[in-house]
Amino acid sequence: MKICLVNHNERYAVCEIAMAYFPRTKFEDTDILPSDGDYIISELKENDGTYQYITTVSYNGDIRTNTVTSAEYNKTYFKQSFHAIAKELIGGFLPWGVLTGIRPGKIARELIEGGMNVDDVKSRFLDFYLTTENKADLAIEVAENEMRTLRNIDKDAVSLYVGIPFCPTRCLYCSFTSQSIKFTSKFVEPYLEALYKEIEYTAQKLKNTPYHIETVYIGGGTPTSLTDLQLDALIKKLYAEFDFSRIKEFSVEAGRPDTVTVDKLKVLKDNNVTRISINPQTVNDKTLQLIGRNHTAQQFIESYHMAMDCGLTNINTDIIAGLPGESADDFLKTLDCIKKLNPTNVTVHTMSIKRSSFLAQDYDAYSVASASTVNTMLDAAYDCMKDLGKIPYYMYRQKNMLGNLENVGYCDRGFENLYNIYIMEEVQSIIALGAGASTKIVKGDNISRVFNVKDVYEYITRHNEMLKRKDEVFK
Ligand code: SF4
Repeated sequence: MKICLVNHNERYAVCEIAMAYFPRTKFEDTDILPSDGDYIISELKENDGTYQYITTVSYNGDIRTNTVTSAEYNKTYFKQSFHAIAKELIGGFLPWGVLTGIRPGKIARELIEGGMNVDDVKSRFLDFYLTTENKADLAIEVAENEMRTLRNIDKDAVSLYVGIPFCPTRCLYCSFTSQSIKFTSKFVEPYLEALYKEIEYTAQKLKNTPYHIETVYIGGGTPTSLTDLQLDALIKKLYAEFDFSRIKEFSVEAGRPDTVTVDKLKVLKDNNVTRISINPQTVNDKTLQLIGRNHTAQQFIESYHMAMDCGLTNINTDIIAGLPGESADDFLKTLDCIKKLNPTNVTVHTMSIKRSSFLAQDYDAYSVASASTVNTMLDAAYDCMKDLGKIPYYMYRQKNMLGNLENVGYCDRGFENLYNIYIMEEVQSIIALGAGASTKIVKGDNISRVFNVKDVYEYITRHNEMLKRKDEVFK
């Protein structure tokens, strides 16, 4: 689809909203006003302090134009101007309106912290971002819950992330740097060796700073793809090198139920891990097979009880709304199972069609629910969590999510995962180790990032370079 900007450079803003209506479409820039085929023309006119945001969309032979007028210059008006036409022309349903960023909760939080009262924040969401009432309320609720936690934030603390990029198999929708351990088992030991070097180097650097570690998160991938001995050695290495005397939480992803064993759970418990994730994604075995996960719903339930019996009682379970082939009823079945288990944390994701996933490569071969069905699933999840007394405490969105919808972390009060809030709200530095890890340095409003290479083999062979990159972090 051609895109032509006239008198402004807000391509990113226009494309962000256009992508919500035309998913998986490539936008081709042109300086010459297009006159045939499908195209978008986005134009800005200014006259005596009044701005006109004019959008023309040509789609399937139908051409429409819309103008939004304001005394203020704000790129959101380009989106508003486009949104009104696209809704008529293409239909579809965007409950978040023209709000396209990753963190809707952060917008609400910043408005409240800036002194705006909650009613005005809600009006801002409804009238400016054109969200539905439910989404405005959700953003405000998440912001208020986050603010309660962030009141006690320790300014001299950092979080530590360690990535284990191995999984038993690759899920259909995965875009992470995770490798199927079946084909890459020979890399696990060299990977851990390189990781240990990064741990040692980083720990030394951190000792020379006034910062201490507040939260630890071992993620991936699936860290429990490692053997119990490897897992034990890794955690003990972290304890040996870093000062964990002031940590408030220690989370480990045991995401894939087929990697969970009593021995690994004991390792986690004995090493004072405080929170684990065991993720079913769905409890429909047919879907589990379709999305390439090597486990059944029963295995998930057994792993969950195994963890509880080992004393690991603070458990998060991830589920996904909009998995290929799933109807609203399938999702309700998953919710029902989660309701019976009632874990302390439940993270409800919206299916995201990530570009590098197997799913995106063969998208037409799968049937995926409409945005409005997925939104119904999310509403049902919200009601279910409310029934369980849980609160939504962090929220984020990713690119290419169905209907531009959201992922929400729910928990029992007092079981908020600090790491998740810190990473989403960008309020604390996160020192990240391992392949694909990205360190985030937060200094007031200034955020900088230092990336490790994504590929496991590259990480192993270029580990000296990864150490040098850590020099950047501690500069
Ligand atoms: S468990 Fe997570 S990281 Fe591993 S393949 Fe599936 S989506 Fe990717």
